[in-house]
Amino acid sequence: ASKQDGRNCWRRFDRQMDETAQSRRALATEMKAALKRGEFRLFYQPIVHAKTLELRGFETLVRWIHPTRGFVSPGDFIPIAEESGFIRDLGAWILETAMEEAATWPDHINIAVNVSPMQLRGSEFERTVTDALASTRLAPTRLELEITESVLLEQSDSGIASLKRLRTRGVRFSLDDFGTGFSSLSYLRTFPFNKVKIDRSFVNDMGDGGSCYAIVKAVLSLARDMGMVTVAEGIELPGQLAALQQMGCDQIQGFLISKPLPLEDAREQVAQASDTYRLPRTA
Ligand code: C2E
Ligand code: MG
Ligand code: MG
Ligand code: MG
Repeated sequence: ASKQDGRNCWRRFDRQMDETAQSRRALATEMKAALKRGEFRLFYQPIVHAKTLELRGFETLVRWIHPTRGFVSPGDFIPIAEESGFIRDLGAWILETAMEEAATWPDHINIAVNVSPMQLRGSEFERTVTDALASTRLAPTRLELEITESVLLEQSDSGIASLKRLRTRGVRFSLDDFGTGFSSLSYLRTFPFNKVKIDRSFVNDMGDGGSCYAIVKAVLSLARDMGMVTVAEGIELPGQLAALQQMGCDQIQGFLISKPLPLEDAREQVAQASDTYRLPRTA
């Protein structure tokens, strides 16, 4: 099933590339109104302890529920939002909404938020995070910002400096999609990441004694030696879970555990993970 999904991803990507400049512009324009109309929705995918499967946190994944197009996936609209600069507004909304929600959860449940390159241009991002920490009173150590290697690649020195200031305040950083870039290992030196997320393409190809098994094993051991927490993404099969448990991976995320959940279902997971937790009132 995983191979099949992989192929679908590529097909979707091709279609996206085929979209005309005109339809991309149309989408870009629509997005602003869509945010005001509340068409963007956050989903939350559980991240669990690899051995006990206890809930450790959620990754925030944005969806666009479009009145006529239906469900638009972030792979399709995030690149357009980046192009048009709208990602700054959307990204700020995502951060604030996710942090506000997470502030109502017990302390041991973290919230991971994806950050894209364009969002980090200029000095706005640091202020957005700082303001959201102040207004939501979320402990900075419970916020995990997920950035890919390409994000760092595109940063100016002042951009990196502002991320490091957030890091000093206690905000956590995860290196997302690890292994898909070109210079992954050297990037572990340029920024003090707390966590490494091993890309699902490696997890998919781990079986049959393939080379990915050795790669994942080496990455896990490297990350551990560098004092980083390890997460494997895209776990779909019990065999993958077993292999990762055996190799000492810290945390697991994937359809085998749970798909990304709408808010109400995520709250239910939180409630189940904690006896003392009380559901916040829904708006
Ligand atoms: P990502 O950050 O690497 O997120 C993981 C993606 O893998 C998500 O796709 C998730 O639904 C999917 N996934 C999780 N478990 C499995 C599994 O077991 N099997 C398979 N086949 N897929 C799995 P999604 O939600 O479509 O997001 C795609 C990408 O879009 C994300 O990759 C991230 O780069 C970007 N994205 C999503 N939400 C946001 C956001 O709020 N802000 C920004 N800047 N980017 C976002
Ligand atoms: Mg991510
Ligand atoms: Mg990822
Ligand atoms: Mg990804």
